[in-house]
Amino acid sequence: MVHYVYDFREGRRDMAELLGGKGANLAEMTRLGLPVPPGFTVTTDACRAFLATGAEPEGMSAEISRHLTALEDSAGRRLGQRGDPLLVSVRSGARFSMPGMMETVLDIGLNDDSVLGLAKTSGSDRFAWDSYRRLVQMFGSTVMGVDAAAFDEAMALLKEAREAPDDLHLDAYDLAGLVETYKRLILDETGHVFPQSPAEQLRLAILAVFRSWNGERARLYRRREHIPDDLGTAVTVQRMVYGNLGADSGSGVAFTRDPATGRPGLYGDYLANAQGEDVVAGIRNTVPLTDLERLDPDSHRRLRDHMERLERHYRDLCDIEFTIERGTLWMLQTRVGKRTAEAAFAIAAELVEEGQITPQEALARVSGDALARLMFPRFDTDATGEALAHGLPASPGAAVGAAVFDSAEAVRRAATGEKVVLVRQETTPDDLPGMVAAEAVLTSRGGKTSHAAVVARGMGKVCVCGAEELTVDTAARRCTTRAGVVVEEGTVISVDGSAGTVYAGAVPLVASEAMRYLETGEQSDGVVAAVAGALERADSVRRLEVRANADTPEDARRARRFGAQGIGLCRTEHMFLGERRKLVEDMILARDDAEREQALAALLPLQRQDFVGILEAMDGLPVTVRLLDPPLHEFLPDRTALTVRIATAEARGRQPETHEVELLDAVNRMHEENPMLGLRGVRLGLVVPGLVAMQVRAVAEAVVTRTRAGGAPRAEIMVPLVGAVEELRIERAEVERVLAEVSEESGVPVRCPVGTMIELPRAALTAGRIAEEAEFFSFGTNDLTQTTWGFSRDDVEAAFFSAYLDKGVFPASPFETIDRDGVGRLVRIAVDEGRATRPDLKIGVCGEHGGDPESVHFFHATGLDYVSCSPFRVPVARLEAGRAAL
Ligand code: ADP
Ligand code: MG
Ligand code: MG
Repeated sequence: MVHYVYDFREGRRDMAELLGGKGANLAEMTRLGLPVPPGFTVTTDACRAFLATGAEPEGMSAEISRHLTALEDSAGRRLGQRGDPLLVSVRSGARFSMPGMMETVLDIGLNDDSVLGLAKTSGSDRFAWDSYRRLVQMFGSTVMGVDAAAFDEAMALLKEAREAPDDLHLDAYDLAGLVETYKRLILDETGHVFPQSPAEQLRLAILAVFRSWNGERARLYRRREHIPDDLGTAVTVQRMVYGNLGADSGSGVAFTRDPATGRPGLYGDYLANAQGEDVVAGIRNTVPLTDLERLDPDSHRRLRDHMERLERHYRDLCDIEFTIERGTLWMLQTRVGKRTAEAAFAIAAELVEEGQITPQEALARVSGDALARLMFPRFDTDATGEALAHGLPASPGAAVGAAVFDSAEAVRRAATGEKVVLVRQETTPDDLPGMVAAEAVLTSRGGKTSHAAVVARGMGKVCVCGAEELTVDTAARRCTTRAGVVVEEGTVISVDGSAGTVYAGAVPLVASEAMRYLETGEQSDGVVAAVAGALERADSVRRLEVRANADTPEDARRARRFGAQGIGLCRTEHMFLGERRKLVEDMILARDDAEREQALAALLPLQRQDFVGILEAMDGLPVTVRLLDPPLHEFLPDRTALTVRIATAEARGRQPETHEVELLDAVNRMHEENPMLGLRGVRLGLVVPGLVAMQVRAVAEAVVTRTRAGGAPRAEIMVPLVGAVEELRIERAEVERVLAEVSEESGVPVRCPVGTMIELPRAALTAGRIAEEAEFFSFGTNDLTQTTWGFSRDDVEAAFFSAYLDKGVFPASPFETIDRDGVGRLVRIAVDEGRATRPDLKIGVCGEHGGDPESVHFFHATGLDYVSCSPFRVPVARLEAGRAAL
């Protein structure tokens, strides 16, 4: 029989797939003997079955009833029982944590009767009615679909009428009135009454949590975080404990270390007389956890013990949700916590030092994405001027943008390319689209564990929260500082998420510490030492070599400093630009061989000089030079502009310049409807006389120059866009001829391996043949993706990729992350068949994918020898290549 429900005592931490992270970890804490209110979890299997069919899976409700009865027996009370009700929470929890994205309903079991019983047994009318109004509010919005803002508004109106500064100033009578208001609101909005039957409440809440998996917010979050859409959520049903029972009760969240910096030590926020989300919702200001030590030393001590225990058990930073009910501490959630990039490196290094994890495990816990974030610049502290406001440094980094005051405006402006900072009193899950769109998030309320802070950290977005000096007036679209400075919508501000400071205007940026380390090898602080350690570890375990795509000596030098082991792609087209365009024009317009040779001869020394510089910067390391790839007309003037110039001259009765007329003629002759599929790559070499010879001669002579200078040049010649072995055979013969010629002339033997790019499906499919002529392969995954999918890269991304991502056609753009099934299959075929022909065939990749973490793991698994990426991605690729080898 399928098993849809597990008691906390039956589960374990490694059952997160089935029980969700929350359910699995509640079970784990129960097993460890920590104080967890009892409960059970309905599995993700049940959720998937329900979402697939729209009906409750067979047997689920019977299992739930059985577990509920057991829970009631152990409590000695029935759910919603008149005189003394048992109450439960219904909590969502997926395999991967999606904070605040799905729904939770607290205080299930209350109704017009049982609320009176709860008042009596607890001795507090206010508490009972506060709990009831929470239930009606959460149930109304989550289960019955009433806009949550409507409830907030009713609450705000009541507070105004009572002149109550916060919810604590509302008494039992006020709250009872609020329950009536809420119930009426539900009836008006939905045509249904709030259900009084506790069993019905429970059933509907469970199904609503299942459905919340497909809510818009949750879907958006999953897309961003690349979480699959078909996992489903588990639902946990748990006996309620009450943090809203008075001043000796409360609710809080805590981290075993500072999630922003990684510094060890208990860390968190606490709110007395509060329940559930109050502490993160910013409805009242929380106190730091250290204050709890004073308020309730006993609970504080126990909390500290439990947290130390959890960190040792999980061997990682944990975050915790807890509630204190009249002096008794209850643990309500734990998980391995999210953290900033900085903290990820710092914590991993620290845990190694403490002997809790191995250096290998530490490497597994950091990521190329985190490293990339640390490489971003920060504000120049000498140029910041006076701060507009100070808040909590919730998520580090530096961001500049126009202040906007709601999510929709952030989305609207960002869509036009404007950089924005979302400024809110506090954020809610509804602000998610705006947070995604913004460069930074700034709030005037809430602690480092508030919604804004947690979500921003998860997204790697800059965030300052709790900037209490700011008064945010959303309706008027502005905020005011304590000093009276008004920031209107659209005003540019700078947000420093590492220091917690906000400045007027655009503050200039300086390089990051991690970047300085990469550039100079200087280790300035702890985080940088942690980065250095992780990179060293990665270098020692990785099998993949990392090269860079670089075509200037300067880029080559930087790549080398960043750890590149050569150049995997040196594009030669930039060497045809600028002042040299004129020479290219001459070559194209040449009327006979003599004229063409003259133009090529003028280009030769310039190219040679470029190669000398690059080979010098990469002395001793391989430099793969790609012969000219783009269509020649890319180097000619724009067709329309030329036509207009000539027509204007004629209209004014002037004779157009002969040169321009000839140019236009050439442009028209060479015009292509689909240049991407036209006369380019190896095809150019085969039909434009002298071009390949000139380029190869430039390379070979540069090798001679460097050899004579005592260097160790290691040039490789790469032929682009080959589709058939015959193309490569012809071109290679020409290459070898020129190499032999230069060797002969100079007396310096020039030996350059000749290889090809694999960037057409036909090349991949005939790789066994192509390898007869190629000493190496380099996958051009950009073109290979274009030609495999039939996507024009320059057009499709803007045109419809967001719709494709929405519809789940693919989880990420195939231009960013390699499409394993399609393009990846071609790569595997080419590797296998190429190596079958030539076992020592060297194989790399030089498309954008070479610096993409997920793709690097694929290339490792496929047996490539190296990845090549832009110089700035080299450290990221090194780290990920190391992680792939673990
Ligand atoms: P999320 O996944 O958004 O964190 P949770 O399921 O953790 O949602 O619920 C939110 C909050 O509700 C918890 O942090 C906790 O404070 C409160 N809560 C949940 N279940 C209970 C319970 N059984 N007793 C008391 N409070 C609870
Ligand atoms: Mg929670
Ligand atoms: Mg290409």
